[in-house]
Parts: sequence; C-alpha cells; structure tokens
Amino acid sequence: MKLIFLGAPGAGKGTIAAAVGKAQGMPQVSTGDLFREAVKNGTELGLRVKGIMERGELVPDELTIALVRERLGRRDTAGGYILDGFPRTIPQAEALAAFQRIDGVINFLCSEQVVVRRLSGRRVCRACGAIYHVENMPPHREGVCDRCGGELYIRDDDRLESIRNRLRVYREQTEPLIGYYRSRGLLHDIDSAGNVEDSLVQLKPLLQNLQQGT
Ligand SMILES: [Zn+2]
Repeated sequence: MKLIFLGAPGAGKGTIAAAVGKAQGMPQVSTGDLFREAVKNGTELGLRVKGIMERGELVPDELTIALVRERLGRRDTAGGYILDGFPRTIPQAEALAAFQRIDGVINFLCSEQVVVRRLSGRRVCRACGAIYHVENMPPHREGVCDRCGGELYIRDDDRLESIRNRLRVYREQTEPLIGYYRSRGLLHDIDSAGNVEDSLVQLKPLLQNLQQGT
C-alpha cells in the first residue's frame, strides 16, 4: 500500500504514521528525516540541503523530489510506504504522480483549537530530546526530564505566534492538495481530534479496503 498522510501541524499524522507503519511493516518516509539523513551522509544532495538549511531557507521542490525519489527506490519500500510531510504543494504532488501510483491519501482533520492546545503544551528536554506534554504526558517534576534530569523547554516552533504562522502556511500551501486528491478519488478523511487510538480505530477498515484494492 502506498499512502500519503496529510494534516496540519499538530493534527497527529506523524505519530499515527509511526504506529501504522510499525503495525503494517511499512516504512514511514518523512522529508525531515530524509534531509537529516542526507546531511549526515554528506551526499552531494545532502551538502546542498545543508547550505540551504543553514541559511534558513526552504529546500526547493526539485531537491526535495530528488531525495524522495531516491528513497522510494530503495528495497524496503517495495511493499508500500507512508509519506509523511510530502507532498506539500501541488507541483510536488504532480512530480510524485509522474513516478509513483498512490493507493490512498489520508487527511487528518482536527480543529485549530485542539492543534494549538497540543502544540503549545509540548516540552522538549534540552539534553536528550525526550518530548513531554503539560496535559497528556507531564514529567514527574515540572520542567525536569524524567529520563535524564535535563531542563525542559518550549521549542521556538511551539510558541503561540509560530504555531499560528505554521497553520497559516499549511492552509495556504498544503490545503489545495486536499482538493487535488479529492478530485482524483483518493482522499479519505479521518477525525484526529481524539487520541491516537481513536484515529487508529477509524483507520483500520479504511486500510483494509485499500489493501484489497491494491
Ligand atoms: Zn532528558
């Protein structure tokens, strides 16, 4: 099964993709991971990505597409995969369609209010990177990592102003993809306002149907 997961920041698609990927034995392919891997391996593409990220610019479509294309050519994706965070734009979706046939696009829906509460409550350990949430997964001692005793902080990305900005960018850039995939009969909506288990329960029959169709 070749799947795309769409959803605003905080809609939960990354967490759900990890759970589904593990259960179905399918790799979760995220562009963030691909960028980090390319930079770490020092490939030609990686060196270009590194320069762009250091300048704080967005990685251009052609470079992102080249990395995704290389990744989807690896053997572990032969039985399917979940694309998480790609495509982000219509040109990326069109480029993907030129070399892959997608079986389904899952659109995770969640109100802005829920997303803001989820993201603004997130705390990250400065020392080990462990992630907490003030409501859903609080540390035993406020501001202190359970695992290593490190200091918990709010990432700049998770500050209210940044969250609003990320949501605005999502609406402008990525929401047109919903129409694009809906008109091709590939889009399936999932309500992800509840917890991860709720979303997985809704996904199960849908994935079974898609699997039968492949
Ligand atoms: Zn820690």
